[in-house]
Amino acid sequence: MAKATTDKAALKKAVTRIITKRADELIAFARDIGANPEVGFQEFRTSRKLAEAVEKAGQKVERGLAITGFKAKHIFGRDGAQDGPTVAVIAELDSLRVPEHELSNPETGAAHACGHHTQPAQLLGVIAALTDAAISEHLSGSVAFIATPAEEFIDVSARLAAHEAGEIGFMSGKQEMMRLGVFDDIDMAMMVHTSAESGTGKFSVGGSSNAHVVQHVRFIGKAAHAGGAPWDGVNALQAANVALVAVNAQRETFQNSDTVRVHGIITDGGVSVNSVPGQVIYEGRVRGRDSEVVDAAAEKIERCFKAGALAVGGEVKITSIPGYMALENDSLMSEMFAANAEGICGKGSVIRRGPEANRGGSTDMGDLSQIMPVIHPYVSGASGTAHGIDYIITDYKNTVVNAAIAMAHTVIDLLADDAVAGKDVIAKATPPRTRKEYVESQEARMRVIHYRGV
Ligand SMILES: [Zn+2]
Ligand SMILES: [Zn+2]
Repeated sequence: MAKATTDKAALKKAVTRIITKRADELIAFARDIGANPEVGFQEFRTSRKLAEAVEKAGQKVERGLAITGFKAKHIFGRDGAQDGPTVAVIAELDSLRVPEHELSNPETGAAHACGHHTQPAQLLGVIAALTDAAISEHLSGSVAFIATPAEEFIDVSARLAAHEAGEIGFMSGKQEMMRLGVFDDIDMAMMVHTSAESGTGKFSVGGSSNAHVVQHVRFIGKAAHAGGAPWDGVNALQAANVALVAVNAQRETFQNSDTVRVHGIITDGGVSVNSVPGQVIYEGRVRGRDSEVVDAAAEKIERCFKAGALAVGGEVKITSIPGYMALENDSLMSEMFAANAEGICGKGSVIRRGPEANRGGSTDMGDLSQIMPVIHPYVSGASGTAHGIDYIITDYKNTVVNAAIAMAHTVIDLLADDAVAGKDVIAKATPPRTRKEYVESQEARMRVIHYRGV
C-alpha cells in the first residue's frame, strides 16, 4: 500500500508557531551571548550556556569537541529510527576581537562584530521545532545540532602554540571537528550567517567565498644597544618593513578575477625602544578564489619575507598554516531554503547569487562544503561594517526567528516523505573530496620555511 505523502505545509505551519511562540526567549538568548563575547576556542561560557539549553530541550549533548564545540543528535520517526540522511544544523560560537566595539569585553577586546551570537539562538529555535513530537514523527533520518568554535581565524600565535602542544590539530573549529570525525555521520549541513549588506533582500543564498592560507612569520635579527652600537645589531623590524614594501609591490601582479587579498598585522614589533628589535612577528593572510590561486600568491609573498631577511642579513621562519577552502553552496538545498525564506518574508525577499559571486572573505564552512553538500545563506538585519566597530544586529526577529524557521522548514523539505528530497540531494551532489583526502591535503599545506639571509 502506498504511503500517504506528508502534509509539509501543515508541518511548516506548526514549526512557525512553535518558534514564533519562543521569539522573545530566543532573542534574549542571542542578546545575552552578544553581551558576553568570547573568542575562538575560548567560548567556554557561550558553549556551556548553549549546551545547557540544548540539554534542557531534552537532547543528549556530546561536549568538548574541538575544545568548546559540541554535538547532539536527534533521530526522527515514530518508534525508533526511520532510515534517512542526517542533516547538521550548525551554530558558530566565537566572536572577534574589536576593542573599540560598543559591546566589546573591556578585558579581552572580544566583540561579536560578525553577528555569530544570533546563531546559538537560531539553533535553539530549530531544536524546539524539530524535536517536537508532532513534527519529529513525520520525518525520516536524523538531525545533528552542532556548535562549532573558532570560525574567525585569529590569535594565530596562540593557536599555533596550542597546535604545537598537541591540543588542536587544525586551527579553526569546523576544520578541527572534520579532522576529529565529528562530521563523519553527517550527510549535509546548513547554517545561517548575518549580513549588513544593503539591498532589499531579507535573505540571500548562493555565492562563494575566498580560500586562504595563514602565514605566521618570525623575523629574526639580533638585539643591540639602539644608541650605543646599533651597527652590532640586526634589525628584525627593518626586515619586516622591507618585506611589507615587497608585498605591496606584488599587488599589480594579481588578476581581478582571482580575488586575491593579502593582509596582515604585526603582533610583536620589538620589546624596548632602546634596543634594536631582535624579533618581529607578523600574522598574515593570503586569500584567493581557490586553493590553487592562494598557493601561487602565497609563494610570491614568501619571497617577500625572504627579501626582508636578506636585506638586513637576518633570518625568517615562515609557518604556513592551512586556512579555509572556497565555499560551494549546494544548489538544490539553496533553492529549498530560498523558497522557504520567501514563504516567511514574502516574494522577492530573497536574493539568489551564482557561484561566481565571491564576497572576498572566507569561512570554514567552505572546508565542510568540500566533503558534503552545504548551504551558508545570509540573513539581513545588521548594520555597520562587518568586523568593524559599528557592526550590530538591528533586526533580531529576522536574524534569529526567521532564520530558525527557514532552517527548520528546509529540514522538513529534506526529510519528509521518507527523506526523498534529502536522498536526491546526496545522489546529485559531487563534493570534490572525501574527509580523508581533505585532512591529508590540509596537513600537506602545513609547513615551515626557515630562510637565512646571512
Ligand atoms: Zn567574520
Ligand atoms: Zn562570521
